[in-house]
Amino acid sequence: MLITPHFALEEMITSQVAAREGLDNTPTPEILSNLRLLCQVLEQVRVLFGRPLIVSSGYRSARVNARVGGARDSQHLKGLAADFTVIGIDNREVVRQVSKSDLAFDQLILEFDSWVHLSVSAAAPRREVLTIRKGTGYLPGLQ
Ligand SMILES: [Zn+2]
Repeated sequence: MLITPHFALEEMITSQVAAREGLDNTPTPEILSNLRLLCQVLEQVRVLFGRPLIVSSGYRSARVNARVGGARDSQHLKGLAADFTVIGIDNREVVRQVSKSDLAFDQLILEFDSWVHLSVSAAAPRREVLTIRKGTGYLPGLQ
């Protein structure tokens, strides 16, 4: 099932950990509606770069989130965040260009130079940009 033209529900809820350990990662209707809001912004990221995104993590149930060591208050728990890369574009460049755009992201985080975390909010988006590396915690801005 497609949530938006280029993003399928399946890719937003697939978890290797969940599959391997038999953990349930089925979204509730409320989470599905949050995923729709998220995918609408991801569609705009796709347009910004003119390239497909590879989503490595979207919605995480509490058990899946705990298992992957996600933050207790992670927006992934609500279906409001995705980790992704843009095919052929350096992750730092993705963060730089999205942060300069007028896209309505809540938080945009360069994580371990390996992927980009983007969250959305039904309330006014904060447009907060952060960087995290091994051992640094969250640093302000693009570091
Ligand atoms: Zn994330």
